[in-house]
Amino acid sequence: MTTQTNALTVIIVGGGMIGLSAALGLRQQGHRVHMVERSGRPTYSEQTELRVSALAHHSRALLQNLGVWQKLPSERLGPYTGMQVWDHDSFGEISFAAAEVDADDLGAIVENRVLEQALWDAAEASGVVMHAEEEVTAHQVDAEHAHVTLSSGQQLHGDYLIAADGARSAIRERAKLPISFWDYEQTGIVAVIETEQPHQGVARQVFLPTGPVAWLPLHDPHHVSLVWSADSDYAQQLLADDDKTFIHQLQAASDQCLGTLQLASQRVGFPLRMQYAQRWLQDRLLIIGDAAHSIHPLAGQGANLGFGDVIDLLAVFEQSPSQRSLRGWERKRKAAALTMITAMEAFKRGFGSANPLLKLVRGVGFKVANSTAPIKRMLVKAALGE
Ligand SMILES: Cc1cc2nc3c(=O)[nH]c(=O)nc-3n(C[C@H](O)[C@H](O)[C@H](O)COP(=O)(O)OP(=O)(O)OC[C@H]3O[C@@H](n4cnc5c(N)ncnc54)[C@H](O)[C@@H]3O)c2cc1C
Repeated sequence: MTTQTNALTVIIVGGGMIGLSAALGLRQQGHRVHMVERSGRPTYSEQTELRVSALAHHSRALLQNLGVWQKLPSERLGPYTGMQVWDHDSFGEISFAAAEVDADDLGAIVENRVLEQALWDAAEASGVVMHAEEEVTAHQVDAEHAHVTLSSGQQLHGDYLIAADGARSAIRERAKLPISFWDYEQTGIVAVIETEQPHQGVARQVFLPTGPVAWLPLHDPHHVSLVWSADSDYAQQLLADDDKTFIHQLQAASDQCLGTLQLASQRVGFPLRMQYAQRWLQDRLLIIGDAAHSIHPLAGQGANLGFGDVIDLLAVFEQSPSQRSLRGWERKRKAAALTMITAMEAFKRGFGSANPLLKLVRGVGFKVANSTAPIKRMLVKAALGE
């Protein structure tokens, strides 16, 4: 840990993967850090967790620099070396491999809770003061200070307050930072699926008129993590179906890409909503991660965007932060989030349509992209979050 001559006191609210990585990074820079999390230390069982994230190279590089990636149990990580995306309703298909961009892999699938626990333990060991099972009941920020009151009545005083308390951020709401949002009217159903054929480290996604279905390769060659984003009425029906009916529908959606499928876990649904905060900075308050932006999981980029927020924030805190440098950070990160949100919306609208002309156009588009090396390379780079 480097010792800063002008170490700051930073209060972070929200111990998800984004808040915890910011806490650890700031502590490693020599700052004094408080972490307020309403739950306790994240725990997980031997069963594969239902929530997983496909992490891109920049996220992994951050976690490596923080010394956390090296501590993740390898049997809970699924590096993926290929991607296959196709349209259920047309002849369109595109597939790419890490080798096409001279990379060893395209990223890795990690179970959220496994990563959160490793981050929590590293943050605590580095000297971050953990306030578990606590919430912020009041906060004030001005041009020089930040103060919070916790549910236990304890008061914390710092130089900065960082809200990483997720999509329903209470701090953002209390600060009255306006958000733009639209409801996708879709639900993401997650489950672990056992496959007859090995997944071979390939992340697969098919676009149905009702939404995309993704199969993300886990460490076990016959286990994948399912993310089925479906229009809400259909999703409710899928969640209510018995296991046999659900698997039957999934099998039909899969175009037999992994042979016979079986459920290896329960199914859980998450409502999907796109939103971004119009301001990420208010005096000494900053918001990061899902508190600042949440996007459709179809490109698996929500957490990757949040890790991008942390990387750029750490660069600002490395050299004493100022309102000017923080405004620069806010501009850069908002642009990254808006670019991703716009791309996701275009994808969702393009693929959500059953219009025959659009189907033809996307079939042709896929074919052209799949056979044109520079376009393909560009798409692989986008998938890598570069
Ligand atoms: C189905 C699905 C699949 C996804 N797949 C991917 C993927 O493949 N790749 C990817 O990059 N992203 C993916 N995402 C997005 C990713 O899960 C999120 O972007 C990421 O989890 C956000 O992390 P976070 O730390 O910002 O927020 P969260 O994980 O929501 O953490 C917020 C934390 O704040 C705490 N908290 C909340 N309120 C308070 C309070 N008042 N006081 C104290 N603590 C509080 C919570 O307990 C929680 O620990 C997916 C999302 C979904 C829904």
